[in-house]
This record gives sequence, C-alpha cells and structure tokens, in this order.
Amino acid sequence: MSTTPEFTKLIKATKAKAKKEQRKNKKFFNRIKKKKPAGLTKAFRETNDEVFKKIDCLDCSNCCKTSLAVFENPDVVRISKHFGMPKKDFIKKYLTPHPDYDYLIKILPCPFLASDNKCSIYAIRPAGCRTYPPFRLQLSDEQLDVIYDNLGICPAANEIVERVMTKFADA
Ligand code: SF4
Ligand code: SF4
Repeated sequence: MSTTPEFTKLIKATKAKAKKEQRKNKKFFNRIKKKKPAGLTKAFRETNDEVFKKIDCLDCSNCCKTSLAVFENPDVVRISKHFGMPKKDFIKKYLTPHPDYDYLIKILPCPFLASDNKCSIYAIRPAGCRTYPPFRLQLSDEQLDVIYDNLGICPAANEIVERVMTKFADA
C-alpha cells in the first residue's frame, strides 16, 4: 500500500505550510529553547497522544520515505545480527557515517520499508525510529531541533507544534 491520496495531499500541504511559517516556527523554537515554559513537555506529550489518535502512520510513511534514519552502534549490532550479516558488511551496504550520530541510512526510501508501508524490522528498528517524532521524550534542545527539522515532513508533528504553540502563545 502506498501513501493514500488523502495523505499525499496532507504531506504536500504540510511541506508548504512549514515553508510559509518558517519564521514563526523558528521564533517559537528559539524561545522555548532559551526558557522552557512550565508544562511544555507535558503539553507536547498530551497533544502527541491526541493527534496520533486520528493519524495512522501506515497511510503516510513520509518519514521513512524522505528522512534519513539514524542508526547508532547498538542498532547496527542488533539489526545486522538479525540479517546474519557481519557488521561491517551491513554498514557498507546501508549506512553512512555522520558527525552527530554514529550512522545515517544512505538510501531513500528506507530499504527496510515494506510495500505495505510497514517497517520490515519493526520489532528491532533503530531507537531513533522508535521514538519518532520525539514528543514523548524529555525535550532536550537536540530533540527540539529534530522536531523543528521535521515540521515539513511529518503532518502529525506539524499539527502537534501548531496546537502547543497556540497554548503557549503568551508563556
Ligand atoms: S527502519 Fe523502519 S521505521 Fe526506521 S526509517 Fe526504516 S522503515 Fe522506517
Ligand atoms: S510519524 Fe509522521 S511522517 Fe512518519 S508516518 Fe507518521 S505521520 Fe507520517
């Protein structure tokens, strides 16, 4: 199953919206990075749960198609073992080193994305995929940067940020 027509439209609109609202979003993220208002992490967590109640990622899969997944060393060890591949062969085939992470996937769409939009290594997927988008984590500046960078990729992330931004307009 590929991305549904509804989500194809939504993804396009999300990309355009993020571009149009780039300045407003940047200002908000700079503000909350400088001083995280009380209740911000809770608001992100609760809004995440509300928004994902109505979004089925299997209709979308845009992150797996357009965003380079992070593979840290423990992910590489676990997943290469699953395929019975020496770690160095797995790295050579799928990954590229990155200055901020151990590795990024080097092929898009992600080669582990199946034709039904499911992750073919779901049970052992990388930790970064497991927590994406990272609204349920304790929000560090690094996590906020990941969220900001994905506002034009993930329709759910865009909606969550929009709702939280409204709640914290005066904070
Ligand atoms: S490993 Fe799975 S969840 Fe992660 S990007 Fe690839 S298909 Fe998506
Ligand atoms: S996490 Fe976001 S971009 Fe990824 S499939 Fe779900 S809604 Fe789409």
